[in-house]
Amino acid sequence: MRAAVITEPHAPLTLVDREVPEPGPGEILVKVVGSGMCFSEINQQRGHYPGAVYPAIPGHEISGVVAELGPGVTWPAVGTPVGAQFLYDSCGHCDQCARGDQVVCRRMRITGVGVDGGYAEYFLARAGYLTPLPADLDPIAAAPLMCAGITAFNGLRKAGTRPGAKVAVIGMGGVGELTVRFALAMGARVAVLGRSRRAEPKARELGAELFVATAEQDPAEALAAWDGGADIVVNAAPDSRTAAASIGGLDTDGTLLLAGSSADPLPLPVPQMLFRRLSVIANPSGSPADLRDTLAFAVAARIVPDVVPVSLDEAPDVLARMGEGTWSGRAVIDLRR
Ligand SMILES: [Zn+2]
Ligand SMILES: [Zn+2]
Repeated sequence: MRAAVITEPHAPLTLVDREVPEPGPGEILVKVVGSGMCFSEINQQRGHYPGAVYPAIPGHEISGVVAELGPGVTWPAVGTPVGAQFLYDSCGHCDQCARGDQVVCRRMRITGVGVDGGYAEYFLARAGYLTPLPADLDPIAAAPLMCAGITAFNGLRKAGTRPGAKVAVIGMGGVGELTVRFALAMGARVAVLGRSRRAEPKARELGAELFVATAEQDPAEALAAWDGGADIVVNAAPDSRTAAASIGGLDTDGTLLLAGSSADPLPLPVPQMLFRRLSVIANPSGSPADLRDTLAFAVAARIVPDVVPVSLDEAPDVLARMGEGTWSGRAVIDLRR
């Protein structure tokens, strides 16, 4: 099969020919249709990803069709359209796994980072970690829902988003844009924070009522002037400096949600946190149950990510351009090309 691999840290993505893997006990072979290209692949390529193994086939935003079941696996049937996510598998028996909260299992593995992912014609999944795709979901456009989508939706609900809540979103990348769309569909009012005004037209078009360019305006002041402040600030960029500077723009009982990883520490203004009873919470992606909910909500709310389909042959160049900052749009590898 055709595949793309990162052979070692700092090496470019390379096209290779590999044997189609054989599903063993507890495994499922998926014929990949769409494979989203996520910015975290840049961190993986730069060697900044904890727990990464090399060489690896990257990619954790996978849509495809069940091609073959390994011994002992009975579901989902061959031919079922499925999605695979950031969470590859987990121990299966700790308290978190028993509760269906596998993404916070201490032995969880990440698709495409700890084990081969979706930049290939076939992907070997673990039984119990695939999600059937709802009918009528385009397999290419749906790919980013497996990562950016679940991160946005699940984070918003963990932060208590409700109709009428004021949600401020830092950054309009993959997670940020979907956070805006999911928050609006949940009935929230939305503000977007960006460094420059570059993302303002897109934010307004999606339905944001306020845009704050942090290079021009103090985010805390701008948010505090928004009917008393934001109920939720989502750090989707992620940008610790802007997140810290936005805390003063939270209303009483407000929540700062960390929806992505950053190496920069987050300084917290303790008196403000205390007297406004503020919280900081963090949420990494989600578990298979959360992906089901994400996909069902996306279908009901007609949230379809805007994507740029590319071929596997184009993927090395696209990833290089993503790293240089000269690629715009959400690339999804269409393995049928
Ligand atoms: Zn991702
Ligand atoms: Zn576990």
